[in-house]
Amino acid sequence: MQLLLVEDDKPLAFSLRQALLKSGYSVNHVEKGESALTAIQSERPDIVVLDIGLPDIDGISVLKQLRKSDAELPVLLLTARDSVEDKVAGLDSGADDYLAKPFEMSELLARLRVLERRLASIKTSEIGVGGIILDTLKQSVSLDGVPLELARREYMLLKTLLENAGRVQTRAVLEQRLYSWGEEVSSNALEVHIHHLRKKLGNDFIKTIRGVGYKVEQEDIARKSAL
Ligand code: CA
Repeated sequence: MQLLLVEDDKPLAFSLRQALLKSGYSVNHVEKGESALTAIQSERPDIVVLDIGLPDIDGISVLKQLRKSDAELPVLLLTARDSVEDKVAGLDSGADDYLAKPFEMSELLARLRVLERRLASIKTSEIGVGGIILDTLKQSVSLDGVPLELARREYMLLKTLLENAGRVQTRAVLEQRLYSWGEEVSSNALEVHIHHLRKKLGNDFIKTIRGVGYKVEQEDIARKSAL
């Protein structure tokens, strides 16, 4: 797992790098935003750990720049301030996760494992449940081999549900996905998207867990209920 660490605080960067290497990551380290963008362009890492406060361009600007050409590269933001504004700005700019300094190394490693799991599903590119196949590279979805036209938010919702097949996704988590993709979320936005998805996927594919959220069953069960 190749990790790019963007951190200008030398002692912190040193100890992070040591700990990450010890945990089996291969780590490249840069201290500036511009160097981070150059490094990513020349050799795309698997995960970026990105400090917000950098000496040249700040981490949020680096992230915005990066997202213009790369929507999938997992980025974990670090900041010295536990400010809500930073968190929202970070997530709005396409960060996958956020960690406020000071943090425990074990916390960083736990967050990285979550990103790795997501990465594993990106790397296999296709997520199949029942007759539905979602291709994360082509960003396409098919049902029993027939391509489906999904709106961007429908795609993101379906992707979240498929990546977590077998587990209930709460309304808050799913709405968070919509928020992080830059949509003004009205109170019934989630229901509207789910309604549209059901029209395209069949009524039974996405289950409503009353009062909690939604869920897609794992492979074998989903196949039966989709038919
Ligand atoms: Ca810094």
